[in-house]
Amino acid sequence: MESGGAGGEGETAGWRFGAANPALAVAGSQSIRAAVTRIYRCLDGSGDARPVTFLFQNAVAAHLSRELPYAVSPADVVLTAGCNHAVEIMMSVLASPGANVLLPRPGYPLYASRAALSGLEFRHFDLLPDSEWEVDLAGVEALADANTVAMVIVNPNNPCGCVYSRDHLAKIAETARKLGIMVISDEVYDHFAFGSKPFVPMGVFGDVAPVMTLGGISKRWMVPGWRLGWIAATDPNGILRNKKIIDSVIDYRAISVDPVTFVQGALPDILAKTDDAFFTNALGVVKKAAEICYEKLKEIDCITCPHKPEGSMFVMAKLDLSSLDGIEDDVDFCSKLAKEESVVICPGSGLGMKNWLRITFAVDPQLLEDGLERTKCFCKRHAWGTKFLMMMTRPPC
Ligand SMILES: *Cc1c(COP(=O)(O)O)cnc(C)c1O
Repeated sequence: MESGGAGGEGETAGWRFGAANPALAVAGSQSIRAAVTRIYRCLDGSGDARPVTFLFQNAVAAHLSRELPYAVSPADVVLTAGCNHAVEIMMSVLASPGANVLLPRPGYPLYASRAALSGLEFRHFDLLPDSEWEVDLAGVEALADANTVAMVIVNPNNPCGCVYSRDHLAKIAETARKLGIMVISDEVYDHFAFGSKPFVPMGVFGDVAPVMTLGGISKRWMVPGWRLGWIAATDPNGILRNKKIIDSVIDYRAISVDPVTFVQGALPDILAKTDDAFFTNALGVVKKAAEICYEKLKEIDCITCPHKPEGSMFVMAKLDLSSLDGIEDDVDFCSKLAKEESVVICPGSGLGMKNWLRITFAVDPQLLEDGLERTKCFCKRHAWGTKFLMMMTRPPC
């Protein structure tokens, strides 16, 4: 494959994906909504001032375009019932016979679940804890083969709490281009960056490799129950359109659930008119919580946090089992912690990281501090030698 030739206006050769899940074309052909959606996409919004349609898609396209060096076409945006729905759609769309996708580890487990359910093979590449959780790009290249169609990144990252630099995103795009695959960029935490690196949308590099941007209002606007998200082709060369990936997304969407209509109606105002003070305030609260979390974790001997969180609402921390007595693994740790201290932490195993913990700091600061204090007591109580000491003195906690 001559992947160096990929790119350029409308050029599709060299990209490995395409001919998306053939079942969707059949399913979509039975759907009036899919047919009507295609007609809607023929509308020429530029020359006709009369308001017709795609009001909501227009709003999302405008929202995304503000931060990109090109304009996203409303016809390349599909609204979904939350970002999870977007994940479901993308994993289903890419499930052509024999295809595989590359997913991050640790990751957001829904990608693997949805891929499995669609019969799409998935393979995990590592995020590197000692390199600020950047993508192991050599690992990506080693994993990919002729049937690889896409790689997924989550930025800002759940569960690691990292934010990728512009430079790293550029390298991801170059790797995708070399492999002839698309990048699926989950940006549901867009702008939830409170460290030194600003959030940069992957779509900035959409001319290097085609990018499907997934997003939604659940996190930034803190309305997870409103179920409104989107899939947008941030792909100035139109490769995803030419390869009929957008068509497949529309086919799936047409036979799937609808986003809540009154939230759709409110979307243009939500996206364009939310007071900046709301975001500044929310970011300030989360930043402070991240600070508390990181400092408090430093006090706990059996838990180490390799990288201070600078985005999203989560952080990964490593469990040092060798310093604990009678704790088998991360699941055992979390089970006993819940039982003895009424503190709930997500074991890393569920995210592909055995003996790690995923901690969310998006909780009330008082509760967060209290919960981590109880975790500290738990660790002290279960530390090697504590049983012996307890026989001699009073317990540490
Ligand atoms: C929360 C989350 C989603 C799902 O968002 P909803 O809009 O609530 O469905 C998707 N991806 C990641 C990484 C998330 O953390």
